[in-house]
Amino acid sequence: MASGGIMPEPLIDLQSDHYFMGEALRQAHRARSRDEVPVGAVVVREGQIIARAFNQVELLKDATAHAEMLALTQAEDAVGDWRLTDCTLYVTKEPCPMCAGAIVHVRLARVVYGASDPKAGAAGSVLNLLQFPTLNHRCEITSGVREPECRELLRSFFAEQRRGNNDKSAQGNPGTETTNGHE
Ligand SMILES: [Zn+2]
Repeated sequence: MASGGIMPEPLIDLQSDHYFMGEALRQAHRARSRDEVPVGAVVVREGQIIARAFNQVELLKDATAHAEMLALTQAEDAVGDWRLTDCTLYVTKEPCPMCAGAIVHVRLARVVYGASDPKAGAAGSVLNLLQFPTLNHRCEITSGVREPECRELLRSFFAEQRRGNNDKSAQGNPGTETTNGHE
């Protein structure tokens, strides 16, 4: 395993990035229809989707049930190993520190995300755990794939939440809220 400073130029097929992000977006819409923060993720290996998941924090009452975490666990099952060195994760929103940590632990090759998260993004926005110098694994990162769709889904969800749904917040949201752009 060559893990020096220089990594080979990854083969990036923009068309398939677009396609696979579309699959992650479908998962995000499933989250949305269940009143979950709309984030979706898929894991791709050798051109095939081996895991799909959407955020299920409320459904599972589990603050760790982010789309990425669920997708990575599924992918490990599919591969039969905890090492996902030849896999790519597509996720509609920039991973948080928890998910970025998990991504490093499974040694994922590449992460592609849609909307960046200026408050909690751990793939370059607030911090960059995916390419952290002292950690023993670094991922390729591609950001902004189908960003307008990914961002609009989140924006409209939180706008809707702000309009009504006071009863929900009484249960205490586990900090998944990212209220963007207060002017
Ligand atoms: Zn996360």
